[in-house]
Amino acid sequence: MLIECKDLVKSYKLEDRELQAVDHVSFSVAEGDFVAILGHSGSGKTTLLSMIGGLAHPDSGSVSINSIDTWRQSEIKRAEMRNQLIGFIFQFGSLIPTLTSIENVLLPLSFADSGSDPAAKIPFARELLDQVGLADKENSFPSQLSGGQQRRVAIARAFINRPSIILADEPTGDLDEDTEGEILEIFRRYNTENQTTFLVVTHNSKLVLTQDNPRTFLMKDGQFSEARIKGSI
Ligand code: ADP
Ligand code: MG
Repeated sequence: MLIECKDLVKSYKLEDRELQAVDHVSFSVAEGDFVAILGHSGSGKTTLLSMIGGLAHPDSGSVSINSIDTWRQSEIKRAEMRNQLIGFIFQFGSLIPTLTSIENVLLPLSFADSGSDPAAKIPFARELLDQVGLADKENSFPSQLSGGQQRRVAIARAFINRPSIILADEPTGDLDEDTEGEILEIFRRYNTENQTTFLVVTHNSKLVLTQDNPRTFLMKDGQFSEARIKGSI
């Protein structure tokens, strides 16, 4: 298994009580899976993805990636795994406003293995911009792009290190339905062509249902369950 979560728990201490944001979640994801995670706001989706991505420490339980228990590694090793294996796409994809599209896409290379020369990756960055439909926008600044186009730059940026895993937290949250559909389509294509594993949090169950057979999980009050939607509609 590429990703194995076992009995993950995380609570937040509030003034008067403790809130269990993620409540004993176990599941595993094979390489090349496309996983959709549905759930209302506050159900624990971001907290769960943060623990899988090595950004938020679980109270208990474990996350293994390629059989390495990530929360038993040193902070340095965990950061290294994150850089090499995982691409993040957040709801409000934060591009650097003073960099062009292609410069934004190349940016993660300056944090990854210092041996690599970002200039050598320009052709690959162009190819990624082409794949997300922005071949003619490589020299545009974020302010010159629509919300959907900015999101696509953030997607190309998440692919630049050729991660094995993409964690996308409501990547289409504030977009109209057509643009959202196009972005999920980009994900599906990339998933099929590269065997990249996707975990995508989305509110839009309709779009998930019209996608071609993703694994779908529901999150409710910190609890996680696999939904057997295919065949029931
Ligand atoms: P979702 O992404 O599904 O909206 P979250 O994982 O963001 O859910 O949040 C789950 C629950 O944990 C919510 O009730 C939220 O208010 C609470 N929560 C999230 N982050 C914090 C935090 N840093 N401190 C306190 N409570 C938090
Ligand atoms: Mg969230």
